[in-house]
Amino acid sequence: MLFGKLAEYYDRLEGVSSRLKMMEILSELFKEAGKKEVVETVYMTQGTLLPPFEGLEFGVADKLMEEAIALATGYTKEQVHSEYKKAGDLGIAAQKLKQGTKLKQIVKNDYSVKEVYEMMVKVARTSGQGSKDQKIGMLANMIASASPLAAKYLVRYPLANLRMGVGDSTIMEALAIAYAGGRDAKEELERAYNICSDLGEVGKAVAEGGMKEVGSMKVTLFKPVRPALAERLPTAEQIIERLGGEVSVEQKYDGFRIQVHKKGKEVRLYSRRLENITEMFPDVIKAVNSELDCDRIIFEGEALAYNEATGEFLPFQETIQRKRKHGIEEKAMELPLHLFAFDILYYDGKDCLSKPYKERRELIERLFGKGKAIGPTRRILTSKPKELELFFEESIEGGLEGIMAKDLKSPYIAGARKFSWVKLKRSYKNKLSDTVDLVIVGYYLGRGSRAEFGFGGLLCAVYNDKRDVFETVSRIGTGFTEKQMSELKSMLSKIKSSGKPARVEALVEPDFWVQPKYVVTINADEITRSPMHTCGKKDDKEGVGYALRFPRLYGGETVRGDKGPEDATTTKEIMEMFRMQKKVGLKES
Ligand code: ATP
Repeated sequence: MLFGKLAEYYDRLEGVSSRLKMMEILSELFKEAGKKEVVETVYMTQGTLLPPFEGLEFGVADKLMEEAIALATGYTKEQVHSEYKKAGDLGIAAQKLKQGTKLKQIVKNDYSVKEVYEMMVKVARTSGQGSKDQKIGMLANMIASASPLAAKYLVRYPLANLRMGVGDSTIMEALAIAYAGGRDAKEELERAYNICSDLGEVGKAVAEGGMKEVGSMKVTLFKPVRPALAERLPTAEQIIERLGGEVSVEQKYDGFRIQVHKKGKEVRLYSRRLENITEMFPDVIKAVNSELDCDRIIFEGEALAYNEATGEFLPFQETIQRKRKHGIEEKAMELPLHLFAFDILYYDGKDCLSKPYKERRELIERLFGKGKAIGPTRRILTSKPKELELFFEESIEGGLEGIMAKDLKSPYIAGARKFSWVKLKRSYKNKLSDTVDLVIVGYYLGRGSRAEFGFGGLLCAVYNDKRDVFETVSRIGTGFTEKQMSELKSMLSKIKSSGKPARVEALVEPDFWVQPKYVVTINADEITRSPMHTCGKKDDKEGVGYALRFPRLYGGETVRGDKGPEDATTTKEIMEMFRMQKKVGLKES
């Protein structure tokens, strides 16, 4: 397929807001891409070159792209920049300038999707001395030979700013329609995606071998598994009742999650967002190799910094300092990590996901008994709410976050929030429930004393995973330091959107809309019902939404580095938290 044709599909996608219509257009596109180009088409539509764990980034900034457009169209850099300022989007600026270019059109009129993809990979892999000019040259070459419409997407793709409003969930449904007979097959595609985290690979499997091929996909070393997530319940009684009798109650540590893959001496580490973070933690790699006596394994744990002298674990604000790109060795000495192993996904050539938790835990205890830097989480087995409660209190007193109760019979449910794991944190016991993680969809200009920052607050949304859209739930104006305000202003001004972004549903209007990209952790007093916000509105008989009361920015990080927009708190979770809050409230009164 020619890239120009792909651009036509993208243009149609940009023009529609109905999810059904989007799926129809996308499925047509995937069918036309066929076996030969479905992988590239899926990655391009996701706006990436490869899945995040491959760590291949474009390395193309606005300024570099402006130079490429100038070279391709014959306009000066200043003219390109001024067109960009007018349009607010470099893709549109390139499209306009291509329409008016005085340069003679280059002979080759269009590249294929595969050719463009391969050239983009080359752009991303070009580094070192002289790489800037080489990148400009390659991009200019593609833009020069493209139609104005194709130029728009050739420019937006490497800037990670496609603006079509298509999420992974919609891509999977479209693949199901194109190659597996209908939307019902999405569930099986999702299962495959959850264990390989590579949507291109899933697209290839279904296009080439249908559902049989998809069904035979298994956990593989060096392809991270999408993490299992926990539900919430407000009391020990409800946890025991829901999980059915005896449960495993593990301490819940507040550090960061690491998925470890080991094959012989080769060890790689992945974050909760499935990025390759191997380089950041040489001490963990060393510990895995020296403390673990096995050849091939995938396991997960929570990493925490601790004080070697006292053995005391440090708070999250200290631990998070270990996530850095420079000064790694020094920080590793200063803040050594302990990894609390809590699950095992693959062992000795075998997929462990379908084994019950009880067996996976036995394996962990057998493998991680002796080490200094890696050990199993502390836990008890109980069927008595009182015992669970005591263990919870003891954990809180020890400075931990709470507990994670686990269903002994449950398999590892990759990529989903299910009741096989249930978290109980201290905050549930008060009226205010857990913190929530929200996606920024807009921001407000500062007024009064905030005017100098050009930033007055955020408009935030939850993720509705059923409909693959973002629904607003709160305006947030407090909890920011001055530094955070200028940081947010600078980050958000780069992702401004000229209108409401395609997947955002809102009734209120911020001063500026932004593409859903960044996630913030928010604390609030309670969840209330509200006609102003779209969160849960479509799920409610009377059409009333949910909102947060007295929301404020929480925690040490300005935006959460370990969560993307689709990892934000979901509409369903907010509705469950609202119900939980009512129950706790009733008990107290
Ligand atoms: P989530 O990861 O569920 O989206 P979150 O990032 O806000 O939510 P929490 O709600 O605090 O985190 O809890 C889930 C996280 O707790 C896990 O992702 C994991 O990193 C961490 N964790 C700590 N101790 C354990 C444990 N014993 N078992 C499982 N996870 C644990």
